[in-house]
Amino acid sequence: MTLKDSTTLKQLDSAHHLHPFTDFKALGEEGSRIIVDAHGVYIRDADGNRILDAMAGLWCVNLGYGRKELVDAATQQLTQLPYYNNFFKTSHPPAVELAATLCRLAPQHMNRVFFTGSGSEANDTVVRMVRRYWALKGRPQKHWIIGRENGYHGSTVAGMSLGGMAPMHEQGGPCVPGITHVRQPYWYGEGLPDASCEDPESFGRRCAEALEARIQELGADQVAAFIAEPVQGAGGAIIPPDSYWPAIKEVLDRYDILLVVDEVICGFGRLGEWFGSVHYDLTPDLMPIAKGLSSGYLPIGGVLVGDRVAETLIEEGGEFYHGFTYSGHPACAAVALKNLELMQAEGIVDKVRNELGPYLASRWKALEAHPLIGEARSLGLIGALEIVADKASGQRFDKALAVGNLCRDICFETGLVMRSVGDTMVISPPLVISRDEIDELVRLAERALDETLRRLEAQGVSIASCEQVES
Ligand code: PMP
Repeated sequence: MTLKDSTTLKQLDSAHHLHPFTDFKALGEEGSRIIVDAHGVYIRDADGNRILDAMAGLWCVNLGYGRKELVDAATQQLTQLPYYNNFFKTSHPPAVELAATLCRLAPQHMNRVFFTGSGSEANDTVVRMVRRYWALKGRPQKHWIIGRENGYHGSTVAGMSLGGMAPMHEQGGPCVPGITHVRQPYWYGEGLPDASCEDPESFGRRCAEALEARIQELGADQVAAFIAEPVQGAGGAIIPPDSYWPAIKEVLDRYDILLVVDEVICGFGRLGEWFGSVHYDLTPDLMPIAKGLSSGYLPIGGVLVGDRVAETLIEEGGEFYHGFTYSGHPACAAVALKNLELMQAEGIVDKVRNELGPYLASRWKALEAHPLIGEARSLGLIGALEIVADKASGQRFDKALAVGNLCRDICFETGLVMRSVGDTMVISPPLVISRDEIDELVRLAERALDETLRRLEAQGVSIASCEQVES
C-alpha cells in the first residue's frame, strides 16, 4: 500500500470511518491522529511525531513493536495453512501446540482451553460455559452471574452486560438477564472519601461483605459465578487492597460459586506473573484471555477452563453449541505460540516481577509530589495517577473541566500515550520497556502534568479548592 499524505488520510478517516468508543461527530470535527509505524515502545504518526506508547497499544503489545520473529511466524503459517477451522473433528498444529503450551503455563488445575477471536468473545463463552455447567449439574436455577461496578469485560452484548460500565448499559441495553454488579475495591475513589471506612484493608473486606450480601439477597442456590479482573484495567488501573481477594475467595467457597478471573489485561506477565491469578493466589474455574496472548500482533482470545468445569462439560455435556469461525485461527495461534516462546526465552515475566515492576513503582510513586496528583499507584507494569484539585482532601475537579482528557491530549503533544479514565491517568507499557525508557516515561508524564496545571491556572481554575475563579 502506498501511503497517502497525512491530510488526505485524515479527511478519508473523518468521511468514512466510525471509530470504537468515540464521539463520531467530535472526532469528525477534530480529525484523528494517524499512526503509521512503530518500533520497540515507540509509535510514529503520519506527521512524523515519535511517541512513547505507555499503553502498549490497548494494553496488549507486551513484546513491543517490530518483533520480526512474530511477523515470520505469521508469514510462515499463512503460507502453509492460512485458514482452517476447529469445528467438525478437525484441528491443526498451531492450535494444538498453543493449547498445550497455555495449559502448561496456566495454574495446575487448568488443562483445557476454548479459543475465541477476542476478549469479548471469551467472555461471551464464559456466560455460555458457566450456565451450561450448572445445568449439567442438575442446578439450572443457579444462573446469576455477579460482576462489579466499573469492571470491564468487553463490548459484545454479553461482555458489556458482565462489565459494570453504566454508560455502556445505558446505550446497549437491555443487558443479558441474570447479571448483577457489586461494588468495586477502589480505595482511592470510594473508600477514602467515605468517612466510615477506616483503612484500605477494612474497605477490602467490606467489598467482600457486599458480595456476600448480594448472594444472600439472590439466594446462593441461584448464583452461578463471580467475574472480576485481578486488577481492574479499563476502570482505572484499580489495585485492590491486600485483604480483598482472600475475603472474596472465602465467600465464593462458602456458597459454592464459580470464580471467573478475567485475565485479558493482567495475563501474560503484566503483574509480574504469568497470570494475575497467580499473583493473588486464586484458583479460577475459568480464565478469559486475549490481548497479550499474541502481543496484539494478530487477534486471538480464549477461555482457560479448570478441571472441575471441563470434566463436566466433557463427560456429561454432549455437543457444546458454541464456537467462532476464527476460534484458534492458525496464523493467530502461530503468532501467539511464538509470542509465548519469546516471553519464556527472554525471561520477561521474571524481569517484570523482579526488576521493571519495582523500578517503575519507585519512579512512579515520586509523581505523588506533583501538585495535581493525589495518588500514584502501580503493580508490575500497570499504573495510575489520580488527578485531584486538592491533594489533602482528594477533592476532584469539576467533571465539566474534563481534566483527564485535557491531560491525555497534552501527553500526546508531549510525546507520550497515557490514557485517561475520568481524571485517572493510566499506563500499561510494553513489558520490554527498559529502565531508561521508564525514566523517559516518567519525565514526559511529569512534563504533561506541569502543562496541564499551567493550562488550568490560565483558565482561572483554583487548584486547592476545586472552584472555578471568576475572571
Ligand atoms: N476483558 C478485559 C479485562 C478487557 O480489558 C478487555 C478489553 N479492554 C476485554 C475483556 C475485551 O477484549 P476485546 O476488546 O479483545 O474484545
